This record gives sequence, structure tokens and C-alpha cells, in this order.
Amino acid sequence: MRDRFQRQINYLRISVTDRCNLRCVYCMPPEGVEVIPHHEILSIEEILAVVKAGVRVGIKKVRLTGGEPLVRRGILDLIAGLRDIPEIDDIAVTTNGILLREMATDLKAAGVNRVNISLDTLKPDRFRRITRGGDLSRVWCGINAALETGMSPVKINTVAIRGFNDDELVDLARLTLDHPLHVRFIELMPVGASDAWAGGKFVATGEVRELLTRNLGNLVDEKKVPGNGPARYSRLPGANGTVGFISAVSNHFCAECNRLRLTSTGQLRPCLFNRRETDLKQALRSGAGPDELAQIFREAVMNKPDGHDLAAGWQRDDRVMSQIGG
Ligand code: SAM
Ligand code: SF4
Ligand code: SF4
Repeated sequence: MRDRFQRQINYLRISVTDRCNLRCVYCMPPEGVEVIPHHEILSIEEILAVVKAGVRVGIKKVRLTGGEPLVRRGILDLIAGLRDIPEIDDIAVTTNGILLREMATDLKAAGVNRVNISLDTLKPDRFRRITRGGDLSRVWCGINAALETGMSPVKINTVAIRGFNDDELVDLARLTLDHPLHVRFIELMPVGASDAWAGGKFVATGEVRELLTRNLGNLVDEKKVPGNGPARYSRLPGANGTVGFISAVSNHFCAECNRLRLTSTGQLRPCLFNRRETDLKQALRSGAGPDELAQIFREAVMNKPDGHDLAAGWQRDDRVMSQIGG
């Protein structure tokens, strides 16, 4: 359905867990986030009930995220359940890749068409530092496993961080020369642990574009990378894959926003950067049927703000990215 600003809302990002097997410095505090008791988290059946209600107001595409979606017990059952909903035509996953080597084949068989893998550095020691202990070689194996299963497109998400990986952005873009990978550069957002950590570390995508052009040649616009997000894609001369830019802060893409978010605790959140949420879990657990749930979706769509105003400052949020579903 369309919202008040005539945007077609057809995409639901689902945080299937707030837990994670990494602790990226810009996403989580060192001790991790407070563990939410199991019964507070939506069950697989409840998530499926929510999606079936969403379908009635036009949801067609879902992305499973978190926290780390691959640590969620029952994730394959969830994906198989989503695949059985005829209106859902796209199931994607955003993962840190740590468990992807072991799970890629099962994910593909269960119904995952596409995967986004987060990777901020090509250097094992830096990776260990930014993720507080992660093993980069596992992510590489995961990326290869995703390519081998034939998932397509395989996208890499790189948050550009001054003083951390700004000297590697060209090398990350070079990955697209030989591999059918789509490397997307994302602006560091003032959310989660990052507002305490990020002072001065923001790099605008305009700067990344310029850096790539200077070092690798002219970027040619590319329109054919499937996806539901706001990335703008370009191709380096002769490249197999593409580079993408997600200007979450410097360039509002709110006018084209097509999404709602479902938090791990069952709150429907119309906008990442707005604290307004509707409690679907309570409705579900007090016996709401498909009609009532669909009505809650309708209201959330109608309550979707026209956009964020990050440039004017960030309103503090009790939730971190892994809970909302980045
Ligand atoms: N654990 C999975 C992963 O890392 O891909 C999925 C959840 S994670 C929250 C989703 C994406 O959000 C990751 O690509 C991560 O880099 C990004 N992210 C987290 N905090 C961010 C921030 N403050 N600014 C920009 N991106 C952020
Ligand atoms: Fe975990 Fe992803 Fe957050 Fe890193 S960005 S701590 S992998 S949820
Ligand atoms: Fe959509 Fe809100 Fe993000 Fe803008 S800030 S793109 S409206 S979720």
C-alpha cells in the first residue's frame, strides 16, 4: 500500500535476534547488549504470522537481519515458512558471514535468493579489532560459499570509517574487478554504539566516489543490480561486479523509502531513525487475528514519517542497531 507521501511500502526488514557472534565497535558496546529474555523475542511462528498480515497490506519482500540472523535457532524453518507464502517474492539475508560457509547450501535450499555480507576490512588484525575478536578467514570462506551456491547478487556491505579503513576502500572496490561481487560503501550512522565512538570518523560517499575515481578510473552508472534498497551502483572499467553507495546520512533517500522494520521483540517500526513503534507482539499474544494484525500494519504505514533529519542532530534511542535490525 502507499503511505501518506505516496511511497509504495512493500519491504519488511526483520530482526530475527538481537544476539550476535561478533561485537563490532560501532554497533555494540564491548559487553554486548543486554540479553533479552527468550520469551520476549518473537517465535518463528509469530514472525510468520506477522509477515502473513503484512502481505495483506502489500509486503512482498523480506530481509532477515539482526543481530546475527544465522545464530537464530530455527532460521531455516523461518525461511522455508516465508518461501511458502505465495505473495513473498524475495527473501534476502544480511549476515556477518561467520557461519555462512556451514550454512550457505541450506540457506539456498530453504529459499534465500540473495545475501549481503558485512566486511569493513581486508586485514585480519583490523577485522579482529573492529569486530572485537572475529576471524576474517571465516568470512572469506562464507563469501565464497555464497558465490558457489549460486546466490545472486552477493553484496558486500562496507561501512567507511575515517582512520580505520579509509586506506582500504580502493582495495575493497578492487574486489569487484575479478569477482561478481557488489561492494557497497555505507556512511557511518549515528546509531547504536557509534555515536559515542564515531566522532570525526564519518566519511561521506561523495568522498569515497572521488577516491575510487582518482585511483581506479571513471565510474559508469549501473542500474541492473537487483535489490530493494537505496544504493546507487556504478561499475569500474572492465569490472565483473559493481560498487554501490549508500548515503544514509549525507543524501536523504527517504522520498523513495519502501520499508518497515520488525524488531526482534515484535515492534513494528516505520522508520529506522524514529522511535515511534507499534507493539505487534502484545497484539499477537492477546489473540489478535490476521485482520487486526493487518490493521496494525496499515496504521504503521500511515504513521511513517516523511524522513529523517539526521543533519539537524540525532535523537537518542534506547535501541541499538542489532535490536532494530540494521
Ligand atoms: N549482523 C549482521 C551483519 O553485520 O551484517 C546483520 C545486522 S548488522 C546491524 C547490519 C548492517 O548494519 C551491517 O552491515 C553493519 O555494518 C551495519 N551497521 C551497524 N551499525 C551501523 C552504524 N552505526 N552505521 C552504519 N552501519 C551500521
Ligand atoms: Fe553483530 Fe552485525 Fe552488529 Fe557487527 S554489525 S555487532 S556483526 S549485528
Ligand atoms: Fe526510510 Fe526512515 Fe530510513 Fe528515511 S530514515 S530511508 S524514511 S527508514
